[in-house]
Amino acid sequence: MVFVVVYNGLQLSYGTKYIIFCNTIKFQSSAYLELFHSCLTTMTDVANLISQLQEKDKEILRLRELLSQRTTCTDSRDNESARQSLKVPEVDGRLSRDDIARYSRQLILSELGVKGQVALGRTSVLIVGCGGLGCPAAIYLAGAGVGRLGLVDHDIVELNNLHRQILHSEANAEKMPKAVSAAYSCKKLNSRMTCDIHCVMLTSSNALDIVRQYDIVVDATDNVATRYLLSDACVLSGRPLVSGGALRFEGQLTVYNYQSSPCYRCLYPQPPLAEMVTNCSDAGVLGPVVGVIGSLQAVEVIKIATGIGHPFAGRLVLYDGLDGTFHCVKLRGRQKTCAVCGDSPTVTKLIDYESFCGLSAGDICRSLNILPPSERINASDYAAFIKTGKPHLLVDVRIPVELEITKLPTTTHNVPVDEFTKPTGCSSLLKVLDEDVREQASADAPLPLFVVCRRGNDSQLAVQKLQLFFSDVPVTVKDIIGGLAAWSNEVDKNFPIY
Ligand code: ZN
Repeated sequence: MVFVVVYNGLQLSYGTKYIIFCNTIKFQSSAYLELFHSCLTTMTDVANLISQLQEKDKEILRLRELLSQRTTCTDSRDNESARQSLKVPEVDGRLSRDDIARYSRQLILSELGVKGQVALGRTSVLIVGCGGLGCPAAIYLAGAGVGRLGLVDHDIVELNNLHRQILHSEANAEKMPKAVSAAYSCKKLNSRMTCDIHCVMLTSSNALDIVRQYDIVVDATDNVATRYLLSDACVLSGRPLVSGGALRFEGQLTVYNYQSSPCYRCLYPQPPLAEMVTNCSDAGVLGPVVGVIGSLQAVEVIKIATGIGHPFAGRLVLYDGLDGTFHCVKLRGRQKTCAVCGDSPTVTKLIDYESFCGLSAGDICRSLNILPPSERINASDYAAFIKTGKPHLLVDVRIPVELEITKLPTTTHNVPVDEFTKPTGCSSLLKVLDEDVREQASADAPLPLFVVCRRGNDSQLAVQKLQLFFSDVPVTVKDIIGGLAAWSNEVDKNFPIY
């Protein structure tokens, strides 16, 4: 740093960075002149100090360069260009120094060894679904050194995912795509592997293109339509499919289409009835139970990629978290009559799986619509009805544990929907409702009976049952459209949804 003082055409140089123009300064007394000289002296001191500092800076720079050269010679890990070259996991079947350090605990497993590690590095795995199963499967495969992971998910992270989908975070909730969030976590654990992000819903039009890019496929989804789609795509592209599922406290796992094992269609030629299908959103699931199955899926992938052990091809593992038991059952073999992998296949390309199954792959929340509009009421209209103060009954048809989570303050009865399937007279809850209705009903003004559930599906089934049950009583029975979810959306934003 240097100063330049220009005074009446006379340039006093102390540097170049700060230039002080003093042309207009007129000294009215000797005191001002002394002050000016004093300032010049101070500026000279400052300039000297700055000059010394610059010399020190140059010296530090020179020492840093020297240190950098010495470090390159002694430890290549600290050199960025050397680090780049180490991104190739192995050369001529040999592992790099970093690989040996990173994977040492599994390298000393005699079944796996260097050969297995190299094979993992050359393997690509497609994980369909970055949820409760996909998260543990992906992170263990990333840690194990799988060369390339493809992550498929079209959803974004939600708060209700976090108890089991362990690669996501609160910071990502409600905004980040799951595939991106999962890839970020995998790369954080192992920056040397490759993550392909597919923020798409797997469909008949894109599944084969995506599946063919990978060696092994992991089914970590939670719906029947995608299970058929993935199984067919794996048969048509000749890829093994590691399939897992978990619900409540139980999980299961098998490997389809590997070493002549059956495909999903061999076991389930026809999809289940739509109303028989449930998922963790409706039935619930314990996080660690999904974690167990997702981790097992990672084990199966490693076994297939490295050729060790006995993958669960043709066998099904059943895990019961409550009992703490594992069972393994032998599955029936590949079926000659199978539509896709049989002797005379009729499915030679991917079909419309949503219409085949009668279910949407992306919509986990089934939406029934079996009642006429006259037998239904909007949540906001029910809220208005409450304000009239007119007598009525509100029947919540969820199971008691769900009422403990939350319920409408106007709830008068709890009769779980399953109670309606019991023989007449066998349900004490229905009996209490029956007595109440008959006591309050009047021929002059039919008693309004409203039915509510979580999302407005079970309530419709219950309305049909109640209409039959009270066919001899003057009542009007309606369900609340969309259930408590609609109440939260339309009437009370603070009403908890689950
Ligand atoms: Zn088959």
